[in-house]
Amino acid sequence: MDKQDKQDKQYDCCVVCGKPTEYRKDVPIDKRERYIEGAGQLCRECFRKLYMSKNVD
Ligand SMILES: [Zn+2]
Repeated sequence: MDKQDKQDKQYDCCVVCGKPTEYRKDVPIDKRERYIEGAGQLCRECFRKLYMSKNVD
């Protein structure tokens, strides 16, 4: 069924690596984790990388 295919495309992609995140585009921003205002949705990996590199310095 191509219904599932369409659902996949509704997932918001990570602004860093471009992979689909676990959040669909209809999920409100305030219900999301790892959403950076002014930037967009980050996936778990990229969020962790960014956070870790910030913490290191
Ligand atoms: Zn990413």
